[in-house]
Amino acid sequence: RAKRNGSGLVCFYEPSMDESARRRSEFALALKSALRNNELRLQFQPQHSVATIEMIGFEALLRWNRGDDHRVSPADFVPIAEETGQIVEIGAWVLREACREAASWTRPLFVAVNVSARQIALSDVVGLVREVLFETGLPASRLELEITESAVISDLNHTLHVLRQLKATGVRIAMDDFGAGYSSLSVLRAFPFDKIKMDRSLMAEADRVPQAAAIIRAVIGLGRSLGIPVLAEGVETMAQLDFLRREGCGEAQGYLLGRPAPIEAFADVVRSNGPRAAPELRGTRVA
Ligand code: C2E
Ligand code: MG
Ligand code: MG
Ligand code: MG
Repeated sequence: RAKRNGSGLVCFYEPSMDESARRRSEFALALKSALRNNELRLQFQPQHSVATIEMIGFEALLRWNRGDDHRVSPADFVPIAEETGQIVEIGAWVLREACREAASWTRPLFVAVNVSARQIALSDVVGLVREVLFETGLPASRLELEITESAVISDLNHTLHVLRQLKATGVRIAMDDFGAGYSSLSVLRAFPFDKIKMDRSLMAEADRVPQAAAIIRAVIGLGRSLGIPVLAEGVETMAQLDFLRREGCGEAQGYLLGRPAPIEAFADVVRSNGPRAAPELRGTRVA
């Protein structure tokens, strides 16, 4: 039985409904008001050059604070927002916020925004990107869109068409979470991505699992052959950073270099000519 509540969302409650379905239904309703109630925020996580450890840009990451320190992880609510289609409205908000923020920086670092497959399938992402760039005045060259390979595969022809149009606007397209799924190579062949982001599961295993280290090396070589930068996600230790440096990986992102935080945490980097090396690593030499 369908119950309509004030928000206009239809919510299904059945006594037999299992716990996870109930939770999803509840999440979907709460998400509906999250935007209006100002419960969504962006945090920014720096991306660094491995060679100089300087910050080169930031990834915008969505945060949902339901009040009283009740924080919900995007890994939990983004999939639900995708299922219900709410990701279209939320994704538009994220893009607008991230671009407005980046446009205010005096240092011309780029901002990377995650775009979900459902946004591409359900809405006019190209029109949205054009509109937001115009509205905020952010140069297209400072916007990077992160798309997962599964997003590309799920509706190959339509997605490739959209990605080509996006690229024509001057924004860069990064393949996110590379190596986490299947068919990575065919997707790379089908579209000229501007960057490969290696999934952090590879980095996490690199010390213990020889195959993971071998794959990282291969992906770095692939990026070199294709002429595009490779970024390693999930860099948490100095040993991992040293490994990437030795293997010639260009870019890195991870807790070692900087955790996601409100942009105020990076004010001296984006709003002035202050140093832009990772604060924790400033002055250290990577072997
Ligand atoms: P992602 O795009 O691959 O983002 C990277 C995730 O790795 C972030 O998790 C980040 O906090 C985490 N991370 C960064 N460095 C490290 C590290 O050194 N160690 C570990 N263990 N984790 C690290 P987060 O913020 O929880 O986001 C999870 C996922 O949710 C994102 O994965 C992305 O797929 C999705 N997401 C986040 N924000 C948005 C958004 O605005 N739109 C869409 N569509 N998806 C989003
Ligand atoms: Mg991402
Ligand atoms: Mg990723
Ligand atoms: Mg991810």
